[in-house]
Amino acid sequence: EYVNIAELFNYILDRFDMIIANDDEPKKRYTIRREIPQSQIWVELDTSKFTQVIDNLMNNAIKYSPDGGVITARLDDKQTEVVLSISDQGLGIPAADVNHVFDRFFRVDKARSRAQGGSGLGLAISKEIVERFDGRIWVESVEGQGSTFFIALPYEPYELDDEDVWDD
Ligand code: ATP
Ligand code: MG
Repeated sequence: EYVNIAELFNYILDRFDMIIANDDEPKKRYTIRREIPQSQIWVELDTSKFTQVIDNLMNNAIKYSPDGGVITARLDDKQTEVVLSISDQGLGIPAADVNHVFDRFFRVDKARSRAQGGSGLGLAISKEIVERFDGRIWVESVEGQGSTFFIALPYEPYELDDEDVWDD
């Protein structure tokens, strides 16, 4: 279906804001900063699959950050594609591992990751989903400083024609 990507992104992030707002003793606190312009970018994708991808990136940003971290969610209109990003101030990923985080079952630190829970499939599944929508997913990270995950999704500029205008 065609969805307004800024609206859907905000809606998914709202749930993460609500989770933290409604938890009196959260295991991990976080603040989400949004840099999401009001826009009318219509992207063809599957809402529930896309939600799964953002959920995974947000859960990773929380999981691999210290308590009280700031997570920045951005949307950039690049005309023929829209680029979404989620940045954290967390552990970061060692340079030698950065090309492997999208591999099935890959985890940077086996012991640490096992303690955190999860299976190491989240990013592999996210990559499959994003590529099914002809998009790209990648990461830039500095160990000890944080990570930014990017998703680029192609879109066709929406043009209003006669058939889109109707009377009530
Ligand atoms: P799952 O998502 O299946 O519950 P997972 O989070 O370990 O488990 P992925 O989401 O695929 O698996 O991530 C793979 C690995 O990449 C993680 O184990 C972690 O080592 C690293 N990683 C992912 N996101 C981040 C991040 N934001 N900061 C630091 N490391 C990360
Ligand atoms: Mg994960």
